[in-house]
Amino acid sequence: MEGRRQLERAAELAISYAESVPDRPVAPAATIEELRQSLDLPLPEGPTDGLTVIEELAAAVEPGLTQTTGGRYFGFVIGGALPTAMAADWLTSTWDQNAGLALITPSAAVVEEVAGRWAKELLGLPAHASFSFVTGCQMAHATSLAAARHHVLQQVGWDVEVDGLAGAPPIRVVAGAKRHGTLDRALRLVGLGTGSVRVVPTDDQGRMQVEELRAVLAREDGPTIVCSQAGEVNTGAFDDIDAVADLAQQHGAWHHVDGAFGLWAAVSPKLRHLVKGLERADSWATDAHKWLNVPYDNGIAFCAHPASHQASMGIRSSYLVYADDARDPLDWTPEHSRRARGFTVYAAIRALGRSGIAAVVEGNCERAREIGTALGELP
Ligand SMILES: *Cc1c(COP(=O)(O)O)cnc(C)c1O
Repeated sequence: MEGRRQLERAAELAISYAESVPDRPVAPAATIEELRQSLDLPLPEGPTDGLTVIEELAAAVEPGLTQTTGGRYFGFVIGGALPTAMAADWLTSTWDQNAGLALITPSAAVVEEVAGRWAKELLGLPAHASFSFVTGCQMAHATSLAAARHHVLQQVGWDVEVDGLAGAPPIRVVAGAKRHGTLDRALRLVGLGTGSVRVVPTDDQGRMQVEELRAVLAREDGPTIVCSQAGEVNTGAFDDIDAVADLAQQHGAWHHVDGAFGLWAAVSPKLRHLVKGLERADSWATDAHKWLNVPYDNGIAFCAHPASHQASMGIRSSYLVYADDARDPLDWTPEHSRRARGFTVYAAIRALGRSGIAAVVEGNCERAREIGTALGELP
């Protein structure tokens, strides 16, 4: 096969990189200027031998890599890559399936169905919930909030899919002061704007104060979306999701949960109490590329109202043929053509199993406590 040597060489380079991570300094060795010197070539006007491209790309890039996949990376909330998930990711690129329609990519569609079901079971979400595999929690928020926008406006007789937001009844969004920035960007993307947010004061850990939430909700009525957070990015704190669910229910509000990493606490019997009431929410956004340790980019949106989810994301074109007997991924995502993200999630969940995922989450929390304790003992 043409290109065989390039693929073999890429595999060799990838494996030796992965093996070097535990012993390498975590920080990149090269400066931005040094990287430009080796990478910033004039635009190639003609072909270059593929093996040379791969060799030189790897040699030039490696000094500028941060070893985020290793156990000594303590920076942002960035996941690693399980060997099995990485291997499935190589295959995903090789198979190069455009995971939109089940008719064209049946394996991608079926694997997504299974991976979505497994994820719901692991996280304790309702079996009837719909889901989409997107690039990350950012787009999981955008997907969820588009479904929420549809749902709360439909309840007041407004079809946002046809009539848009101009002239629509206003939607208020209620969220904590320590919400993640991606929630605000998702609100901008779905046309609600950051000005729609009624901010609920938080405690010293970044948790919404329930009495403040109660007061904010009582202040106005009309279409409402309440956003809670399972895992604040600085402290790891969880909102009282059960209490938020009660209040959202009382006010007929949609309840969206940002659980980018924290949702995975649900897998651990020791930590599950942190997400009590989770299954009562209307939508959930999480990442597979954080605690599940699949390679970037991979996030999942779940929605307890499949009809609203599909109404907001579905697409019909005369040239597309939909399956009668399978889930067509493009009916649930903001993307049209897309990578088959289910393969890596399927592989990671199968490789670790419920007990293995719980062990990853619990192990990380134990290490964090050890580090916290040791830091606290320093003079
Ligand atoms: C990481 C994170 C996000 C954003 O997720 P991306 O995968 O970067 O899009 C949102 N919320 C929280 C709490 C996070 O930790």
